Amino acid sequence: MRESVKFYIDGRWTDPADPARSRTLEVVNPATEQVCGTVAVASATDVDRAVAAARGAFPAWSQTSVPHRIEVLRNILDAYQKRSGDLAAALTEEMGAPASLANGFQVGLGAGHLTKAIEVLEDFPFEERRGATLIVKEPIGVCAMITPWNWPLNQIAVKVFPALATGCTMVLKPSENAPSAGQIFAEILDAAGVPAGVFNLLQGDGPGVGVPLSSHPGVDMVSFTGSVRAGVEVARNAAPGVKRVTQELGGKSPNIVLDDAAFAESVAAGVANMMGNSGQTCSALSRMLVPGSRMDEAIGIAREAAAGVTVGDPNGDVAMGPVVSRAQFEKVQSLIQKGIDEGATLVAGGTGRPDGLEKGYFVRPTVFADVTNDMTIAREEIFGPVLTILGYDGVDHAVEIANDTEYGLAGNVAGADLDQARAVARRIRAGWVSINDGFDFGCPFGGYNKSGNGREWGEFGFHDYLETKGLLGYAPDEAAP
Ligand code: NAD
Repeated sequence: MRESVKFYIDGRWTDPADPARSRTLEVVNPATEQVCGTVAVASATDVDRAVAAARGAFPAWSQTSVPHRIEVLRNILDAYQKRSGDLAAALTEEMGAPASLANGFQVGLGAGHLTKAIEVLEDFPFEERRGATLIVKEPIGVCAMITPWNWPLNQIAVKVFPALATGCTMVLKPSENAPSAGQIFAEILDAAGVPAGVFNLLQGDGPGVGVPLSSHPGVDMVSFTGSVRAGVEVARNAAPGVKRVTQELGGKSPNIVLDDAAFAESVAAGVANMMGNSGQTCSALSRMLVPGSRMDEAIGIAREAAAGVTVGDPNGDVAMGPVVSRAQFEKVQSLIQKGIDEGATLVAGGTGRPDGLEKGYFVRPTVFADVTNDMTIAREEIFGPVLTILGYDGVDHAVEIANDTEYGLAGNVAGADLDQARAVARRIRAGWVSINDGFDFGCPFGGYNKSGNGREWGEFGFHDYLETKGLLGYAPDEAAP
């Protein structure tokens, strides 16, 4: 059993402020439906304590030198690598990530973001002269970080590492569905010698902890990743304090397969992309756009690709584990039924569990074709392994469908003529658009429209943790400081 019942405040593991009245929640293993842990819900008093610790640590940490912070980040990387097996095991148990995904990409993302943060910090322009003005970038202060369960480690890494690098102090509240990644993360930072109060960890849910944290007068900035609903509430609660708020929210991202693409490979890759992490990826390419005249061809390829996706015990050699919770399972089931009711062609999967699986929140890898963009399954973020395939008639039509969404997080264009594919990619209104797939820790990650505000990853992830000061009074010919 995993116990996340203490909070890391001011460099110490601390009991809830009022143990007699404190709430706990059960953490459920989604593959077995058995309780696998307990998480304590912090109170407003715990929030006060954690924010006070972060405020107390800010004057000293914000004044540390860049070489010192690089050294601390390198120590964290060493400590992180020693605990990578523990982190992966927690992800598999609490959110059902297949062991190969947890040990590989999920844990690798954290190390990759940290390595990138060190590289950026080595060369970051904290001071820059422009004529008579010296532009100075200063840490914004105490940051509140609220993260979801779907890529728990990645979401923590993209907030905590740039905040540490820029000299901010912080309070993290991970998702109550997957609290252990945050717990182990705090142990890693403690082992690496991060000074007391610089990083603080609270556990608990949105109403109990997220609300008092995002509205706390001692917090300067809130970095939120999660649903649009909660992201809006965070912004509303932060508004009276005029805090900076960054939001990484949902998506319904398009994958335009152009006529000249390597068609079979592109369609199969699109299916694999959608099924990865059981479809619980905010940037999942959930709307595949193919030339309408090739819909039948796409259906054949997608059906075969979906049939090849192995589903089962995430400790085994499978491509896909369960979705995270009963609530998520039921939501996905009802949206699959909605797709059937609205008349889309069910190409693979459907409602119910995959054959041979009697319990666990396992969903059948599902593909719908002949989808129109007004159907619910093309508009709502399903957050499950459900791909929709839509037909288009010409590139302009493809772009029009791609942009006909309230989101704008990601996209992909598959095509052989790179000039054409890049031109199409430029027309997609989204923050991260790949061409024939692709990945880069230095690429800014974040959304247009309701997908959010602000950018994370690499150098772009530093900006939201910094204030910009103009120091006037330099003679234009005076040497730079
Ligand atoms: P969620 O919004 O329910 O919860 C996210 C976090 O917010 C959790 O820690 C939760 O406890 C907290 N929370 C909930 N209500 C809150 C409130 N009123 N005030 C403050 N905090 C509150 O989302 P989820 O179900 O955990 O995650 C799934 C969602 O996250 C999906 O919509 C997905 O697209 C999105 N997501 C986006 C990105 C991105 O980078 N754009 C990445 C991952 C997930």
